This record gives sequence, C-alpha cells and structure tokens, in this order.
Amino acid sequence: MTMEISLFLEKLRQEVRHYKVPVVDLISVQTKDPFKILVATILSSRTKDETTAGACSRLFKVAPDMESLAGLTREDIQELIYPVGFYKSKAGYLFMLYQALEKFGYQIPGEIDDLMKLPGVGRKTANLVRSIAFDKDAICVDTHVHRIMNIWGYVNTKTPLETEMELRKKLPLHHWREVNTILVAFGQGTCRPISPHCDRCVIASMCPQKGVKPRKIKNKMLNCPPICSPKRGETKEN
Ligand code: SF4
Repeated sequence: MTMEISLFLEKLRQEVRHYKVPVVDLISVQTKDPFKILVATILSSRTKDETTAGACSRLFKVAPDMESLAGLTREDIQELIYPVGFYKSKAGYLFMLYQALEKFGYQIPGEIDDLMKLPGVGRKTANLVRSIAFDKDAICVDTHVHRIMNIWGYVNTKTPLETEMELRKKLPLHHWREVNTILVAFGQGTCRPISPHCDRCVIASMCPQKGVKPRKIKNKMLNCPPICSPKRGETKEN
C-alpha cells in the first residue's frame, strides 16, 4: 500500500476537481488572511458548508478583521453566525479570541501548539489553519481522512490523532497539505460514511474496502464494477 498511496491520491486529485470545493478551501482561494481562515474553520466544525458560507459572509461584512470582531458583543456574534452548529459556544470562542491573542501580539500564530491555545481550536483546526493560511506542512485529519485511510488499510488506527501520527511517519511530505482537501471532497461526494458509492468510484478496482458495506444498487446492470472487476485476491493472470 505504501507504494500505491501516490497513485490513489493522484487519481482522486483529478476526480475531485469536478466536486464542490470545501468552504474553508474556497475562502483560502479568495484570501490568505489567517484571521478569516481561522474563523471560517471554527465555524465549519459540525456544520454544512452552505451554512458556514452564509455565516462567514454575514460576519465578515461586519467584522472583516480581528479589531472589528473585538468590537462586537457575544450576542452580536451569535446573531451573525446563527444557525451554524453549536453557534452559542462558537460565538463565545470568537468573543474571547482577541484577548487570547494578546500573548501572540494580536497576530494569529502559525504553530500547532500555539494555535491550540486559542479558544475553540483543536488539533484538526490548528493543522488546517497552519496548512491553508501559512502554507506550512501539516496533516489535517478529520473524520473523512481518518475513515478513508483506514478503509484503504494505509493505517490501522482507532482515532484521528492516531491516524495523524501514523501519517506523519509514512505519508510522503508532498501529500501532507493536499490530503485533507482531496479526501474531504471525496468523502462527501463518493466515499460517504454510510453506503459509499463504490459502484462509481474511480479507485474501486484498487480499494481493499476494509470494513465497508457498499451501497446496494437496485438495477443489477449498474453494479458493473464489482461484477466485472477481478475478485479481490485474483490477478489478471488468474
Ligand atoms: S471503492 Fe468504495 S470504499 Fe473504496 S474508496 Fe471507493 S467508495 Fe470508498
């Protein structure tokens, strides 16, 4: 599998070009502003991309930078970001952000350990901000990256943190920053958590499908890849 990871990611890089871009990546294309990327990443947690995009748009109109955010009350922020998931907690995190940045000279820091000292910032968010806002090597392991890497058998881990540590050891450095963008889009579009679309997956013939129950296809003719492909363990010579 170690030899094939680049092939998997290369195929999926081509594939997800046609997919919807995750909202945080979209914002990073529009701006490299670490403040906006950090806020968008906090808001995006457990929230649909469309909802995050709307909340970011409303909030950044009123508070395009750290100073203007600091001028808002917790209730103002709450109203602007509603209905993102956990909007009350997230409004609290953003309300406390300015004060928390004091020790960093009111600049968003670029190191994982420093980012994790900010309210509402866990390891996943810290890695994403470091990677997207600062163009530094980091592996953001969210539920899709953790799940799909285990389905492929590239790692055999129980938690996203274990997956990150394994990937840090074995994933070639040039894939670190792209792996989240590719696998989030792929995990939302094809390799879904429940009933993945193995029937239309571009890497179905190579995927070990560990622990996967592929989606049932009503029309048997549509079920071509599993029927037409060599059975797992068979080679072309067989
Ligand atoms: S074949 Fe199925 S399980 Fe494997 S990557 Fe594709 S969609 Fe996911």
